[in-house]
Amino acid sequence: MCKLNIVRKVSKNRLALSGIDEREADYILSYELNIPITDIPFSTLDLSKKQYNSIIKKIKLRCRHMPITKIFKKAYFYGVEFVINEHVLSPRFDTELLVEKALEYIKPNDRVLDLCTGSGCVAISIAKNVDAYVEASDISKKALKVAKKNIKVHGAKVEAYQSNMFDKVQGKFNVIVSNPPYIESEVVTTLENEVKEYDPLIALDGGVDGLDFYREIANKIKNYLLDDGILLMEIGYNQGDAVREIFKSVATNIEIVKDYNNNDRVVIVKI
Ligand code: GLN
Repeated sequence: MCKLNIVRKVSKNRLALSGIDEREADYILSYELNIPITDIPFSTLDLSKKQYNSIIKKIKLRCRHMPITKIFKKAYFYGVEFVINEHVLSPRFDTELLVEKALEYIKPNDRVLDLCTGSGCVAISIAKNVDAYVEASDISKKALKVAKKNIKVHGAKVEAYQSNMFDKVQGKFNVIVSNPPYIESEVVTTLENEVKEYDPLIALDGGVDGLDFYREIANKIKNYLLDDGILLMEIGYNQGDAVREIFKSVATNIEIVKDYNNNDRVVIVKI
């Protein structure tokens, strides 16, 4: 038996020594014990040896900069929980803006495509909020496995399939959304350990200038979007102008939406 307070102290010390905010100890304890942080009885709870070992194991992983989402294999996005693993990008808060904006355009019964779906969090969040026909594709079979699991857990009306960008996509859509890889190849290696060590490179690397996938989408979009359709994509914090330039020749209107940090984040394209 071991007092939770002691485990908490040990955990905080270990995290601080690894340069990680010691307050994360409480998040890890909360996840591990399945008790909301505010309800954890820190001064009275006794832990079993097994619980102690399990917590210390997770603290050690966090000390190696594994993100909490990857340690517990779950993440919250748009108000619900998703399973994740090392084969998918951990859902980012920033990406909720893509869903929020997409939902402004999607009407019931629309055909919607989510390219580069990863964990499926964007497609599923859309399907949970509007009764549309949502398809989700990804080049990675391992990512698709995660997406399919999430679709099942949420009972979401989403059809997920493997496709290298548009390769296996059929027909035209009212709305296409995508959070493609958009980090410049050279910049990937400079990202924080949490990202470069634990998010899949394939989900981050957008080629030399980070824009490869936007060019690919721009080249093919007319074949996959209905005439009055809308394309919404997440972009990097400084890519607004470059992405606008890429879509200039195929678009009748391009809007760049800023996120809560005032960075470029979502591009909305009408063709
Ligand atoms: N937003 C992610 C990051 O900053 C990158 C996601 C992406 O490339 N689509 O790490």
